[in-house]
Amino acid sequence: MTNYPARNSADATAPNISLVVPCYNEEEAIPVFYEEAVKALAAVGERFELIFVDDGSKDGTLSVLRMFAGRDDRVRYLSFSRNFGKEAAMLAGLQAARGEYVVTVDADGQDPPSLIPQMLECVASGEYDCAASRRVNRVGEPPVRSFFARGFYSLMKRITDIEIIDGARDFRLMNRRYLDALLELPERNRFSKGIFPWVGFATKWFEYENIERKEGKTKWSFWKLFLYSLDGIIAFSSKPLAVASVFGVLMFLAAISSIIFVIVRKLVWGDAVSGWASTVCVILFCSGIQLFTIGVLGSYMAKTYNEVKRRPHYIIREKSRWI
Ligand code: UDP
Ligand code: MG
Repeated sequence: MTNYPARNSADATAPNISLVVPCYNEEEAIPVFYEEAVKALAAVGERFELIFVDDGSKDGTLSVLRMFAGRDDRVRYLSFSRNFGKEAAMLAGLQAARGEYVVTVDADGQDPPSLIPQMLECVASGEYDCAASRRVNRVGEPPVRSFFARGFYSLMKRITDIEIIDGARDFRLMNRRYLDALLELPERNRFSKGIFPWVGFATKWFEYENIERKEGKTKWSFWKLFLYSLDGIIAFSSKPLAVASVFGVLMFLAAISSIIFVIVRKLVWGDAVSGWASTVCVILFCSGIQLFTIGVLGSYMAKTYNEVKRRPHYIIREKSRWI
């Protein structure tokens, strides 16, 4: 078995691998996940810790976590004062992680912990700083959702400088160097699908077939996903602002040509009161575009407003002894 360098060799009890698991209403999924994760990590033979972050769950998630932390020293948990979202939960877990190698993984069984030994081997070899996973198909997903997801990824490819991989999951293993770089990013609007490629480093991709979640149900409605994708676009691209300006220029050119047309028509044919219907159309069209562009500007302003308020990403209500 490979020997992985421990982060803090002075502290013989420090774990070498940390698993960060965001949980929102996962009381049924956690026990199954725990078994699988412990089995996969036991095969590696290194000291590890499981950090569960209860993201303001409304079911018995917290009591399940208390129970596991009570009987297994390797389990630690954080519990938020309310639901702050998966991004905040992952951040809290990453900040609490003590390992040299840190893994972010979902509790619902869609990210197979059995892949961890392979990912670890690849990063520990030193060739890569991060091992990420992507699903190669979208089995079990509604076709409309897949259609929009594909559209989103191809749009992102065109309008941002970073490469956001289609089907990339948040299931990743990273080394300390990568994690420290990630934690340097102070922004509140954390779109991790973009933040990960933004920090760079050498990433190895592991591919696997989509696995449907085992217990409970997904927390992502279509609307929530749609808003999340807008967040991503605004966080990583200022192209929509450019589109707004292009619209402005096009409208200006259209206005100039119409003015020329009206003057010429007046001089050549004289004038009659006609064309009010088309005037109304033009007014509607222009005000539509104006509202759209104001909306685009407003979105960036709202994000800026959120950033300057500098509110904490999350508030912790309870934590286990070791955090
Ligand atoms: N999750 C969370 N906070 C939320 C929503 C989800 O911590 O507000 C967790 C959830 O418990 C799970 C992971 O994030 O461990 C992924 O959630 P889900 O399975 O609903 O998303 P999907 O797999 O469909 O992307
Ligand atoms: Mg899931």
